[in-house]
Amino acid sequence: MANFVSRLFARSRAAAPPPIVGDAGAAAPARGLISVRPDNQPKSQLRDLRKNVEINIGKACNNRCVFCIDGLPKREDRSYMPFPKMQHELQQWYGEGYRSVGFLGGEPTTYPKICDSVAYARELGFTRIAIATNATKLRLHHFTDRILDAGLTRVTISMHGHIAELEDKLTRVPGNFEKKCKAIRYLVHKRRTEGALRDGLSVNIVLNGWNYRYLPKMMQFFYERMQVDDLRVNFIRPEGYAVGDADLTPQYKKVVPYLIRAIVLAETHFQKVFTFGGFPMCVLPGSLRNNKDLLSRYMGEYRDLSTACSVRSNGGDRAAPGQDISPLGIIKNGPPSSVVHYDQEEGRARFNWQDRKRHDLKGQPTACGQCELSSVCEGVWKGYLDIWGDRAFRPVRVADTALGALL
Ligand code: SF4
Repeated sequence: MANFVSRLFARSRAAAPPPIVGDAGAAAPARGLISVRPDNQPKSQLRDLRKNVEINIGKACNNRCVFCIDGLPKREDRSYMPFPKMQHELQQWYGEGYRSVGFLGGEPTTYPKICDSVAYARELGFTRIAIATNATKLRLHHFTDRILDAGLTRVTISMHGHIAELEDKLTRVPGNFEKKCKAIRYLVHKRRTEGALRDGLSVNIVLNGWNYRYLPKMMQFFYERMQVDDLRVNFIRPEGYAVGDADLTPQYKKVVPYLIRAIVLAETHFQKVFTFGGFPMCVLPGSLRNNKDLLSRYMGEYRDLSTACSVRSNGGDRAAPGQDISPLGIIKNGPPSSVVHYDQEEGRARFNWQDRKRHDLKGQPTACGQCELSSVCEGVWKGYLDIWGDRAFRPVRVADTALGALL
């Protein structure tokens, strides 16, 4: 297997897709908003350049996933964003040159004003309008028709199993698997017959201790049975319900062989979009690290949009309530933080997602001190390091990767 992988990775598949050019107007950042941060991601020609913001509508959800990072949200966190505030938020980001918006939860389809929010975003001029959803409500055709008609252009579905037993156990709602399959079938049908969702339909799998061994089967299920053409797998972030859970949080060394098998299958068989996220470069085999085409095709960080976030939050983390921090979200004379603004009245924090991961949510194993990739590496989820420690990580030399030209 190892030799086959090396040979395959050495030759690699055809040329990468053409660059995507967006309208990344270089507007000056306003108070409390965040400019695009081109320096905190790997360089890539594959990235959609539209300025992207993700707006959290509240933390209410109709699923109870075992790895939910919100855990059990407090009552006040479950309340929804009032629509006038949503309109104001959308206006502000649009005014800053943002043309891509995503609605997050909790579960955004439970927000009573979700269709109005999508329609308002379209009216303002956003060209990419997305939701990240568990999709159970999208099984209702009348609701799906309404949100698509309002102007939705992309759906990312959280689904983590290829059989009912696994999906329902992970999301802790009996019958969820069937509801999600029904939703996917309808969305695929709408795409094929009406050209809906021009920015795509993807399934987002949280790779965890209960499902990673089934990755090849999940690919087969989603690509062939469900006819989805875009799959993303993200390594579990052990927070919320999953904090400290070694059963749900596998060691990288156990998951990586399955990830490699998945890449081989994607190259040789499925040939559809497959990306992974949350794996630092040092846990990947040299044959992958050394192949620029493969890295840029499969490592999600090369495609992810630079993303600003506006989320419901109990506090500004390291930013004091009401404090406006600039430049670039780094608190002067203090620890680095990603929060650039915390609005006490709204209970809302704003930050760049890539900065947030690097400065607040991920930690740097001791090896990072000697690693030549530390300028592009986000590090490792802190929750993972709390469970497994940092002894398995090793520094990487740029010369041992295909990254030289990209850094
Ligand atoms: S910077 Fe740290 S986590 Fe990232 S690749 Fe290097 S050793 Fe691994």
